[in-house]
Amino acid sequence: MSSYTDFYFGRGENADWIGSLRGECYPENFLAVPSSRLALTATDESTFRTAVVDTLDVWEDERLGHAYRRELGWPWPWYTSHKSSWIIVFDPAPQAVFVTVGGGISWHRIDPHDPRFPEGDDPLGPDDIYAWLRDPAAPPSVPMPPAATDMTPLQAYCPDCDVETGHAHREGCVVARCLATGLQRLGHDESCRCPQDVWTGRWPGEAECAELGWMLGPGLPDLNRLMTTANWDPVAYRWTRPGNPTTPIEGEQR
Ligand SMILES: [Zn+2]
Ligand SMILES: [Zn+2]
Repeated sequence: MSSYTDFYFGRGENADWIGSLRGECYPENFLAVPSSRLALTATDESTFRTAVVDTLDVWEDERLGHAYRRELGWPWPWYTSHKSSWIIVFDPAPQAVFVTVGGGISWHRIDPHDPRFPEGDDPLGPDDIYAWLRDPAAPPSVPMPPAATDMTPLQAYCPDCDVETGHAHREGCVVARCLATGLQRLGHDESCRCPQDVWTGRWPGEAECAELGWMLGPGLPDLNRLMTTANWDPVAYRWTRPGNPTTPIEGEQR
């Protein structure tokens, strides 16, 4: 499976996105590739920025995966970095590099003399995985900038299992939905006989949010509202407006 890493200058909602990687985004690779190791151990802004740009080039040259440069705009079908595996930033206030994970609730400061990623089983990650799945950007996740574009661009390949648009997700894909419930397929009952979900080019539910006017801002579908107040139509395989007379209403009606 692919993993993703986003680089920023600064922390918080106004952090400046510098670029992203897809592919073999693992700590051992970041520490082994000279340019990414240099980025991780940077103690000034220009070194960090230059090293990140070099890393994007090297990533593709060495066939470690794809690189997404800021000139091309926000690359993900995500509306937040909180779906990415790693987020690596340079914070100008302490002049230091920090890392966190998608949904991370704290930052790990990298020691430039002994660069290491946090050890253990996801020590920075969300403590409530189900809350994170519903709305990865919600607190207590550390704040991240929202996407800068009005509409999330269509993504030709599923960001998790890499299938092409129109094709069924591979087994174990975190993006795939259970078509009986609209919830994540990974968690559906073993006895569920729902058909395979396909990758549409956008994160599940985003199209419905746009249609219902449930956008929190440009590129920010209110997936939490969708999943808590809309109804899943198990025939049409989509969310419908609450109060739709053909389906029973569950949850809060707006
Ligand atoms: Zn998939
Ligand atoms: Zn199912």
